[in-house]
Amino acid sequence: MENSQLLQIAKDFGSPVYVYDADKIVSQYNRLTAAFSNVKSLKINYAVKALSNVSVLKLMKKLGSGIDTVSIQEVQLGLKAGFKPEQIIYTPNGVSLEEIETAAKLGVQINIDNLSILEQFGTKHPKTPVCIRINPHVMAGGNTNISVGHIDSKFGISIHQIPHILRIVENTKMNINGIHMHTGSDILDIDVFLYASEILFDTAKHFKNLDFIDFGSGFKVPYKDGDIETNIEELGEKLSKRFNEFCKNYGKKLTLAFEPGKFLVSQAGQFLVKVNAVKQTTSTVFAQVDSGFNHLIRPMLYGAQHEIRNISNPDGRERFYSVVGYICETDTFANNRRIKEINEDDILAFSNAGAYCYSMSSNYNSRYRPAEVLVYNGDAHLIRKRETFEDIIKNQIEIKIE
Ligand SMILES: *Cc1c(COP(=O)(O)O)cnc(C)c1O
Repeated sequence: MENSQLLQIAKDFGSPVYVYDADKIVSQYNRLTAAFSNVKSLKINYAVKALSNVSVLKLMKKLGSGIDTVSIQEVQLGLKAGFKPEQIIYTPNGVSLEEIETAAKLGVQINIDNLSILEQFGTKHPKTPVCIRINPHVMAGGNTNISVGHIDSKFGISIHQIPHILRIVENTKMNINGIHMHTGSDILDIDVFLYASEILFDTAKHFKNLDFIDFGSGFKVPYKDGDIETNIEELGEKLSKRFNEFCKNYGKKLTLAFEPGKFLVSQAGQFLVKVNAVKQTTSTVFAQVDSGFNHLIRPMLYGAQHEIRNISNPDGRERFYSVVGYICETDTFANNRRIKEINEDDILAFSNAGAYCYSMSSNYNSRYRPAEVLVYNGDAHLIRKRETFEDIIKNQIEIKIE
């Protein structure tokens, strides 16, 4: 998206505002499917939690994607967007048996990652097809908050518990139709991914009625200059070959599934904020913007670095700034960052604002959540209104205090 278009969007829809480029989502989707073109049956299930606006879900549906959901509400959003239940996989962690049963009743693919739930569900609903989430205990790197494959992770059933899984399956006669792993975000090294995949293949051999193997996600996209991104093309070539060999030995053509979130939407998003004040202190120059970690928490939560450009002064000279928000608590977006000279009222654009940005936003400080705009077929469409005071107050109940 050009600076002029972004500036126009900030003018038309106000700030702060999230802007998503549909073309970028489409090209990432096509890149992924092209990388795995040697696999006969490929299924991409977009991870809804990355960016869950219903218009974005409709775009995914148009592309032929299914969805990966982690809550019953995400399942409902998917159904609202027009996905059929069989295009939805439900991969919760730590939810109640009742919620899983509700999802099963809606007809979505169930994915279970807990032995106790597996046994209870299998006993009550032996006919319902179930996928099992395995924990291959692979350290995928990245931030410790998001490396979920390792030994202390709460996700998945350990590969060391496979005998126990098999006993449950045998006793309940339940129908296991898929095997799954998701080793967490930020896989730097495709060798790590391939290594975990071999563990998954070994596990899959134990189950005779599989329809699919789901390799999860964790593909890395670049956030700043010099960042490594997952070489999808190389992974596609190597994993497709192994997958096709596996199917041959297994004696059945299975579906290869992925569930990328970040890879599909991260780079499609720009977050536009306005500079309220430039504040020179004894140690630094602060650019104070009309947002905070209530709207974009990743820098504070994960130490994530989102590139920040001054689109109002793209030809200015570079100076050093600390970009901070207006929340009454430390909310630093960037420290000592080189940015084109900033003046009050300038619009700054944060890159990689598609994944885990709006979807993690809150009303902290009783601020409104921003608007969202989708640029689709060249036109900017408002896909979520900015909140108003009504949204802040609507579920609050005033009691009589005397
Ligand atoms: C969050 C999540 C994903 C998506 O991960 P990305 O790193 O955004 O691609 C996929 N699968 C499951 C089960 C998840 O919880």
